[in-house]
Order: sequence, then C-alpha cells, then structure tokens
Amino acid sequence: MRNKAAREQLDQVFARQRKRALSLRVEPLQRRVVRLRLLKKWIENNEKWIQQAIYADFGKPADSVSLSEVYPLLTEIKDAINNIKSWSKGVKVDSSMAYLSTISHIAYEPKGVCLIIAPWNFPFLLTLGPLVSALAAGNTVMLKPSEMTPNTSNLIDKLINELFHEDEVAVFQGDANVSKKLLTLPFDHIFFTGSTQVGKIIMSAAADHLASVTLELGGKSPTVIDETVSINDAAKKIAWGKFMNNGQTCVAPDHLIVHESIFEEFITALKIQITKLFDSENLGFSKSPDYARVINKQHFERLRELYNDAVSGGGKLIMGGEMIASECFISPTLLTDISPVSKITSEEVFGPLLPIIKYSSLDEVIMQVNSQPKPLAFYYFGNSRKNRKRLMRETSSGTFCVNDCVIQFSHPNLPFGGVNHSGMGKSHGKYGFLAFSNEKAVLRQRVGLTTTKLVYPPYGKRTHIILKLLKKYF
Ligand code: NAD
Repeated sequence: MRNKAAREQLDQVFARQRKRALSLRVEPLQRRVVRLRLLKKWIENNEKWIQQAIYADFGKPADSVSLSEVYPLLTEIKDAINNIKSWSKGVKVDSSMAYLSTISHIAYEPKGVCLIIAPWNFPFLLTLGPLVSALAAGNTVMLKPSEMTPNTSNLIDKLINELFHEDEVAVFQGDANVSKKLLTLPFDHIFFTGSTQVGKIIMSAAADHLASVTLELGGKSPTVIDETVSINDAAKKIAWGKFMNNGQTCVAPDHLIVHESIFEEFITALKIQITKLFDSENLGFSKSPDYARVINKQHFERLRELYNDAVSGGGKLIMGGEMIASECFISPTLLTDISPVSKITSEEVFGPLLPIIKYSSLDEVIMQVNSQPKPLAFYYFGNSRKNRKRLMRETSSGTFCVNDCVIQFSHPNLPFGGVNHSGMGKSHGKYGFLAFSNEKAVLRQRVGLTTTKLVYPPYGKRTHIILKLLKKYF
C-alpha cells in the first residue's frame, strides 16, 4: 500500500462499495442469509487450515483454536441466521396523547460502508465476528486484519476472495500505515478492536468524517477473590482464563486481589491447577502441547521488561519466570509483593504474568479499582451476596462476571464491550447487528385532523389551556 496505485485501488474499492451499499439496502433479507451461510460452510470445511494458520502464528493448540475461535464464530453466524428476521423487523412504538394522530416505528437500516480493523490475539474470531454482524445488518465492508498474524490474515484474505466480490467485502492487509490510509476514507461506521492507545487514534480519525465508532479496547481486568471463595473451583477457572491463549486475551484476569485470610492457601491451589491444566504430563510448560506462545519478539521483550521492572522493584517470584526468547516462551508466572510504582500495576499485562495482591478490606479494593480507568471485565470469586452486590454496584466495568472468567465474552445474549478507556459501543448477537445499523425513527402523521396542529400559532388562550392540560396529564 506504499505507492500511488495502491492508494488509487483503495479509493476505487471504496467508491464501488459505496455504490453497492445503496443496492444492499433494498435487497431481500434472504440474500444476507445466503452470505452468512456461505461463510459458515467455508469455516466448517476449512477448520483444519484455520488451526494450522493460527498455530503457525503463535503456537496456539488446535483444540484451543476450535474452542475459542471457530466455535464462537459459528455460534455468532448461526445466531445471526436464526434471528436476522426479528432483528431487522421494524419495532412499533406507542404514541403519547400529544402524538395521538401519529403512527411511529423504529426501522433498522444498514449504516453503509463499514471499516473493520482487527487485532492479532484472536485473529480469526475478532476479524470475522464483526463481519458477521456487519453482513447481517446489510453493509459492505473493508477489512483490515492484523499484520502480526500473517498466516491467519492470508487465510482470511483467501476466504473473502473466494466468497465475496470486493464490491461487498474486501481485505486490505498491512500494518498501521494501511489502517491510516483507510481511516482517511469517509466510512459510515468504524469497528475497531485493539489497544486503548490506538483506539484514541481511530476515534480522532473518525471525527474527521463524523463516522460512528465501535471501539473494543483493552485494559486491566481486576479479579477479586474473597474469603468466602470455593478455592479449588476458583483456582481452576482462573488458571484456565488467565493462561489460555498465553494470557493474550482482552478479558483475561489481569491481576488478582486476594483476601489476606486465604492468600497462601489460594496461591498453593492456583499453582496446582496451572500445572494440571498446562503441564499435565510434567514435561515442563515449554514442552506442553496445550500451552501457546507470546505472539512475537516485540511483545516478548515488552513482557520481559514488565517482569524485570516488577522484580527489581521488590516483586517476589512465586512460580514460573522461565523465558526462552528464541521461542517467545514465558512460563506461567505468578508474582506477589509488587511495588505500587511498578509498571505492571498500571500497564495492561496481556501475557502469562500474573501479579497477585493481598487485601484486607473491600473498601480498599473498591477505592483502588475506582481510581483506575474502567476495566473491560471485573471478576468476583466468592459466595458472599453482600460483597458481590457491593462490587457490582460500586464499581463500573464493561462486563461483570461472578465465579468464572472469560466466558461472558461469548454469551450469545449478552452485549459485549467496554466503557470509556476499555471501549465504546457493544458487539455480539443483536448488539452487533445494532452497532452496524442506523435506528431510524419513522413517524407517520395523519392528513387533516392532527393533534399537533392544536399548538400552532397564533398563540393565545387555546394554546395555554392545551399546554396546561399536557403538563398536568401527559
Ligand atoms: P493494536 O491496537 O496494536 O492493533 C490493532 C489494529 O490496529 C491492528 O490491525 C493494527 O495494524 C492497527 N493499528 C496499529 N497502530 C495503528 C495506528 N497508529 N493507526 C491505525 N491503526 C493502527 O492492538 P493489538 O496489539 O493487535 O491487540 C491487543 C490489544 O487489543 C490489547 O490491548 C487487548 O486488550 C485489545 N483487545 C480488545 C478486545 C475487545 O474485544 N475489547 C479484544 C481483543 C484485543
């Protein structure tokens, strides 16, 4: 995308998609279903290639790919196919007394030409998941997968080329420079998944054309474990949620905040569960077929730096710390006694390092969480109704999950998204459909006798009486 010809190609595709988007507005819903069915079939027929591509990108085990990328994506497609009719159907709304002579409804129209920019950490799901919503809502799409997962991005390119004409869906591969060029185009909607830092750049670029945005961003997801917790159950779920995908999950527990009375017991249980899940044969984590890798050298070095900074600031290593740079391997690493000024307390970890903090009072925890940017996920592990309610009501986060982690991401009927620093707008299922739709307010007035005419000028006694009645009764 360096030369003028590439720039022109991008402009041309955009112009053609804009034209095509106008015809998509009026086509029968069944055409959208056909596109989604094609996508579903391709994924079902090519699961092996998807597994291989993601393994080649960062050593993610095949079953983990099926579980965390393919299965949620197929669910998203099936959900859209089954519900597209009801989602797209206009919703009738009641009229108040002042609007008695009108009939109104909400119509869902496609936004038009949409841009989807994806991250690398779930490279298949997070590129094609938003595409499902965009297609269900009747849009044309320009897709920018991540440059950090070239094998998966090539496969996505192939898939899109096989299934769609580029007037409907087109892929543009490349790094931030390609994104920047795409962002100069007047899209109707931009759906971005990635870091908070880049999210700000996206929002500011969108402002030039007043494009609407959905920002699925990151941040630090706190995990509170109180004294009423079922220790082994929580340890197992956290071991899975944190170290699956090598900690490179936007909703992975970022750090644990554990009540002092169970601190040691919980850590012992956590160590056991991590080993059971990711080194069941006792060969060492680096030999385990179930343990993925850090995406690349750059992120490996970022994590090594976070680790070194934490340890040199007084942090205590209580498990792991093994690193093999040539393989981008970092074993599951638990750290305690972290200094509040260590970088790991303020930067999103996004890797297999897990800081564990001790607490004595829930007030402290709530104050600490509220002093940080609002997280994407907040986890509470415990069986105290009082604590659960306090944490839910007194803190703000995109999602709140009790006695489990990560799984709220793929619940088909829950909106997924962050709040402020962790994101804006919602996705998945109906919420994804809405993100790519304009909710158009449609009002139809009667001709002749209409209630609203009663308050037209000239203003006078009649107006005053009507206003008085309206204010009193309606
Ligand atoms: P990233 O922000 O570095 O990159 C995301 C995309 O933006 C890539 O396609 C990249 O090419 C592009 N990009 C990078 N710099 C850009 C720039 N200056 N201008 C325009 N585009 C640019 O994120 P990442 O490293 O790919 O992903 C990790 C981050 O994503 C983490 O912070 C994680 O929490 C977050 N994330 C959030 C969700 C969610 O659903 N909320 C899901 C996955 C990942």
